Amino acid sequence: MSKSKAYYRLQQLDSDIDAKTARVAQIEVLIGQRETVDAMQAESEAAQHALNEAQSRQRDQEWELDQVKRKLNQVEQTMYSGSVRNPKELEDLRRDSEHLRNRRGELQDRVLEAMMNAEELGEHAGARRTEWQNAEQAWADEQQALQTERQGLQEALAALQVERAAQAGRLDAAGLAKYNSLRGKKGGVAVVLLQGTVCSGCRISLPSGEVQKVRADAVVSLCPHCGRILAYGGPAR
Ligand SMILES: [Zn+2]
Repeated sequence: MSKSKAYYRLQQLDSDIDAKTARVAQIEVLIGQRETVDAMQAESEAAQHALNEAQSRQRDQEWELDQVKRKLNQVEQTMYSGSVRNPKELEDLRRDSEHLRNRRGELQDRVLEAMMNAEELGEHAGARRTEWQNAEQAWADEQQALQTERQGLQEALAALQVERAAQAGRLDAAGLAKYNSLRGKKGGVAVVLLQGTVCSGCRISLPSGEVQKVRADAVVSLCPHCGRILAYGGPAR
């Protein structure tokens, strides 16, 4: 392996390590992150609570309607039993009966309204619950996939570190120091390929003398524009 290729190989390993390390960091953030599912759970629980309240109101109104019907029944039985003969008392009973009939009508309307309302809220709560449960399942699957991906990345990184150490061992200390300092200054990319006459790091074309130097690969060449180490992309001459 030529010297520039040895640097280039080290760069490839470091770039791979950087990318995988960044992905692991991203996964660490995503693991345990369940704001969306939590929001859906809260929505589902709120919808269920609203349904429970509506059903409770419906039961109260049904109970009240039942009471009114019983009372009306009693009043009308007394009215038609013939046991009350006093006109004043009969008139009171008639008024009570009329009042209770009105009240019964009102309550029947309310019970019907409450039933329809509860039915609508029931559908809403059911839909929210299904959405939440689906999201919960999708979340669990995603978390499992992230754990698996992280495991794979960590194994790959361990192997890459071994390979990287071996590759770094093939380079001299001064060159490595230069490489490391360039990596720090150039966004992690110290070594780039010369593609034709163009530096793939800064996309600027090199004078033919410089191109020849890179191709000859006798010494490590730096791009005169961006300062990165240049490796010849094609077969060395
Ligand atoms: Zn350059």
